[in-house]
Formats: sequence, structure tokens, C-alpha cells
Amino acid sequence: MTPVRTPLEAPGLRPVAIDGDAVVELTRQLVRIRSVHDPDGGGGEAEAAALVAATMREFGWAPELTEVAPGRPNVIATINGGGGPGPTLAFEGHLDVVTEGDLRDWTVDPFQGLIRDGRLYGRGAADMKAGIATMLHAVRAMELQGPFPGSVRLLALADEEGMMLGAKHAAASGALAGVAGVVVCEPEGGEVCAVSKGALRIRFELTGKMAHGAMPHQGANPIPVLGRLIAALEELEQRVQARVGEHPLLGWTYITPTVALAGTQEQMNVTPARASLAVDVRTVPQVDHLDLIEAMTAICQDLSGAAGVKGEVVVVDDRPAVETSQDDPLVQCLVRAHEAVVGDRPRFGGVPGTTDGTIFTRDAGVPTVVYGPGAKWIAHQADEFVEVEEIARYAQVYAMAARAFLERGGR
Ligand SMILES: [Zn+2]
Repeated sequence: MTPVRTPLEAPGLRPVAIDGDAVVELTRQLVRIRSVHDPDGGGGEAEAAALVAATMREFGWAPELTEVAPGRPNVIATINGGGGPGPTLAFEGHLDVVTEGDLRDWTVDPFQGLIRDGRLYGRGAADMKAGIATMLHAVRAMELQGPFPGSVRLLALADEEGMMLGAKHAAASGALAGVAGVVVCEPEGGEVCAVSKGALRIRFELTGKMAHGAMPHQGANPIPVLGRLIAALEELEQRVQARVGEHPLLGWTYITPTVALAGTQEQMNVTPARASLAVDVRTVPQVDHLDLIEAMTAICQDLSGAAGVKGEVVVVDDRPAVETSQDDPLVQCLVRAHEAVVGDRPRFGGVPGTTDGTIFTRDAGVPTVVYGPGAKWIAHQADEFVEVEEIARYAQVYAMAARAFLERGGR
């Protein structure tokens, strides 16, 4: 059902027998579990976590389940290679998926696990249940192939699509201590992504004084300040773009207003006391987040102060851009294994969003690289799919790269 290409012989790389049917079947079973987190309760990662843990136990491993929020477990297992001391390499995936959205946009059932014309369809097929199934079967195949030095740690985590609670918990609880590197198994369409954009979520809170619309001079209206703020942030974006330019793999830095709130439709004769603006900032590695926050704060203070309005800047989330060298041994092991299995050198790419890897680098100082089955653009779309043939192929690449990395002693 799932032909696995015969990898080319390459020094230091040993092809491994992947159970192609089993890895596809596990992906399918994971897709059938609707692991969408509903903030009002229900759903979540528990059932998917239980399946991952049960599969690990079948393989003879000892997974640990830790709830990072009620009903939302992380699953972590460490597999000792039995080949003597050596580094620990980690593979990571997230158990949650985004909502299927409007079913009318889908031509297939998002939670059936349908395979048609060589594609496995469903919410999370690419982002990223294939990645999770692939990392499990890659390590199982390595183990069956024979002892390897050091160990491999597998992390299947909760809440990547939300606030990354699973990754934050893993980093804070020491699950990444001593880990030499992490392969984040997100779908990147065959690209090896050693660089990811940073992200800032900022909220501007403007507090003025409510007044009658007929006597606006009696109040302090925050709405004109909100307008000037949006214009000033656009100019700031242009200045930052002009200064740091376009990153070859990540593109431009963006400061994008995403939420503007002020007044109510029912009260058109009242100037409101409060207004707020949220912006989604996406940065390349050359942009210093503290400098940018300072610049945004100065703009907010100037504009609100001039209008007799109080301005406050709230940093809701701060995720730095992360970059691992293309010459990093883990990156190079993936590149060589991909080349051996696929036949072509992979492209280097960049991740426009952030991943759990961003948190690992930020909070635990661990180098990360993002590479996994599925197309980059398919995540969060209707009719999401992964090419069936890719699943076992990525397992092959992971297994070959991991063994090569561990046998060379890490970095
Ligand atoms: Zn994802």
C-alpha cells in the first residue's frame, strides 16, 4: 500500500525498514480523533494522547503523561538506544488541531481518515498527525534495526495552536534538559527549516473620558488616537522594513493591526472612554523585540498624551525569531538523509509562523529544526491532506538522520 523508495547508499547513513502500513494506519487513527481544543470545555488532546501512549507501550516504551491544563496532557517518552552513552536527540509534534471550520468548505469528512488517490484527508492530516505517527515509527524502526548510542526523546504535546502551553510546560519541567537538538515534525513540504520568524502580540489600551457627542470638548475621545496609532504603526513597519530588509527565507517584518475596539453601535451620540487595538507583529532575526516594544510604547505615549488620553501597552506574548545554522550537525544529518531517501537535495526554508521549537529555543536554549511530512500551505485549510507515500518516506529520513546524528556523537 505504501511503497518506500530504496534509499541511496551514503556514507554514515543506513537505510532502515519502515512499517509503511502501520505508520499510515496510525496517522489515520489520529486523524479520526477530533483533538480540537474548545475553550468552553470538551474536546482537547486527551484521546489522541492516549492513542500515542498506547502505541508507545506496544513498542515497549514507558510514556509519561502530564496534564498541562485540565484534560490536556503532554506525552513524553525516552528511548534508550542500548548502544552505550551518547547524546539525546528529540522529535516533537503537537496533538491538537485547529477547528475544521465550516463543513460546507470540505468535500470530505474531516474526521474520517479517508484515503483517496494516494492522499490521506482530514483535519490534522498534515498539521500534524502524520508528523507524530512518523516520528514514532521512525524510532521504532531504528530500535529494531539495532542498538544506537545515546537516546531519542519523543514529545507529543498539547496546545501548540493556542498559547503553546505544552511546549512551555515541557521546557519548564526539564523535559529538554541535556537534549542536543529537536526536530519539530511540522509540515514543511520537503524544506529543511532552520529559521523561524518571531512573533509579538501587543495590545494598546487607550483610556480617555466619555462625553456627549454634541459636546466632545467635555471629554477625551480615544478614537482619533486609535486612528493615528494605526497610521503611526504602519510608518514604523515601513521604517523597520527599510532598515532590516527582506530576509531571504522569511521575507518581511510585519506589524499588522488585527483587532480594533471602541464605542458601541447603539450609542452613536457618545464618545467612549476606552479604545483598544491589538497588533500581530512578525519579525525576522535582525529585529530586537525590546527595541520594537520601546518604539511602539513611545508612539503610544506621544499620541495619547497629546490628546489627553492615557495610553498603555500590554505585551501579551513574546516569541523571538529563532535560527539554527545550516551547518549545524543535526541540520546536516537531515539534509543528507533527505538526499539519500528522496534523491534530491532539500531546499532550505523558513517558518513564517512560530512553532513549539520557538519555545524550546527561547526557554531551554535547545537548537531546533523544522522538517516534516505534508505541504507547507495546507495547514488549517479545508480538505487538508497528506500524501500517503510521504509518510513512510519521512519516517525513513528521520530514522537515518537520527542514527547518523547519534553515531557521530551529536554536536
Ligand atoms: Zn502545526
